[in-house]
Amino acid sequence: MSSICYLCGKEIGKGVASKDHVVPRQFIRRKQPKMRGFDYTGVLPTHEECNNKFGAESERMCQKSLQLIDALSNPECYVRLQHRDKREIEIMGFDADCLPGFTESDREFFRFIDVRSTSIEELRDTEFYKGKRKTNLHKQILNIALSVLAKSAAAVLVKRFDTSPRTWWRILCIPYHGVSPTVDFDGLLGKTKPFEVGVKLWIRPYNNKDWFGIYKNQGALVYVFFGFRAKLPLLKK
Ligand SMILES: [Zn+2]
Repeated sequence: MSSICYLCGKEIGKGVASKDHVVPRQFIRRKQPKMRGFDYTGVLPTHEECNNKFGAESERMCQKSLQLIDALSNPECYVRLQHRDKREIEIMGFDADCLPGFTESDREFFRFIDVRSTSIEELRDTEFYKGKRKTNLHKQILNIALSVLAKSAAAVLVKRFDTSPRTWWRILCIPYHGVSPTVDFDGLLGKTKPFEVGVKLWIRPYNNKDWFGIYKNQGALVYVFFGFRAKLPLLKK
């Protein structure tokens, strides 16, 4: 393996290379990563700084973001409400049962407020909303899920398909959620081993130099297109 950091495309040099998992560790639930029937993609070298900078927190929160994306595809899981007098106050309420495994720190990360012991009167009072920051949950979870899945798909291209980490490419990601967890594209895109139960990336070349992939993580799908043909400058050493 070359000593080029696949995140910035520059030589790692004399410093100790950090190792970034091609498929985020959070996606793999089994204890033993190398197991029959599953694809183990290993690690790629990176600068330690690049590895830390490139969304270590996002990777940690990707599974939770996918869980939220799933919950948002189920109208039974949430409501959107607007304050009847102060129209600028809009809230989104989630049924905690739809978000199993969410810890207090996860809720804090997404700026959720636990209102399980708050009365309707308290929620009606505009004082309740003073000092609370507005969020854009859709944007936050999509940014996290798309960036983590696109990065992982790019890492697979570098690791498995002889793509130089020193080339430029453009990535187009289109999210789709609410599919059946058993949906499978083997028939369309060829037999592919999963990384984990319900986690799979089908990736195929098209138009000579470009790549098309479908990354599935339980009920969420992301279509990824890698455009290599655009004329972009090569990275300087
Ligand atoms: Zn780097």
